[in-house]
Amino acid sequence: MKYITKYKSSNYNSRNNSKIKLIIIHYTALNNIEEAISYLCNLDRKVSSHYLISQKGEVYNLVKDKFRAWHAGESFWQDFTDINSISIGIELDYSPFGRNNKFSTKMIYALKELIIKIQRKYKINTNNILGHSDIAPFRKKDPGKFFPWKKLSNYKILPEYTKVKNSKVKLIENWFHNNNYKTKKQKIIIALSIIGYDTRQVYNNSKLYNKLISAYSSRYFNIYKNIKVKSIYLILIKHLIKFMLTKN
Ligand SMILES: [Zn+2]
Repeated sequence: MKYITKYKSSNYNSRNNSKIKLIIIHYTALNNIEEAISYLCNLDRKVSSHYLISQKGEVYNLVKDKFRAWHAGESFWQDFTDINSISIGIELDYSPFGRNNKFSTKMIYALKELIIKIQRKYKINTNNILGHSDIAPFRKKDPGKFFPWKKLSNYKILPEYTKVKNSKVKLIENWFHNNNYKTKKQKIIIALSIIGYDTRQVYNNSKLYNKLISAYSSRYFNIYKNIKVKSIYLILIKHLIKFMLTKN
């Protein structure tokens, strides 16, 4: 896969030897690729990403992988809070309100190829391919509810949760019971927390709790809306089981 390297962003610093563990997918919410390039390369903006993919599927490499690009902002995953140091950021030329409001086939194909390449190079676990809304659910919505996560899981680069048997769900329910997680809310929070989400302040704050659920649903409910799942709860429990089986 060929990158366009003629535009470079200086908005980065050192990773301080942190290992690359995550891939974070964003959208720019800007009008077109030219705007995206100038925004991400503008010193005053203090933001950047390693890669930017156009509607035509062209991949721009703006910051070298070995540097810490500034794309995640205040974020959290699996107890890490300095996400920029441990991740590769990929921006998509997409805006929900612009003419570029489609995730084009060429864009998603290029994204898939890029993810596979990065995943192999840094041995990134399939559970660690995330959206900005996964790591900053209280402030960010990108890549949004129309992002085709399902297509990516069809390419086998994301874990498939639907294949988890219902008998396994019972095991988790027993585990909840033995650990005294009684209410559905308690179970949901502990499951999200084990998977990696920031649940530090959600238990007593219903506004934050709802934002977290909505971030989770916008990703996972969409993937599985074709199967007969009535609640996000069952998806989450299956997700947790798959996570435990594939986390290493
Ligand atoms: Zn973002």
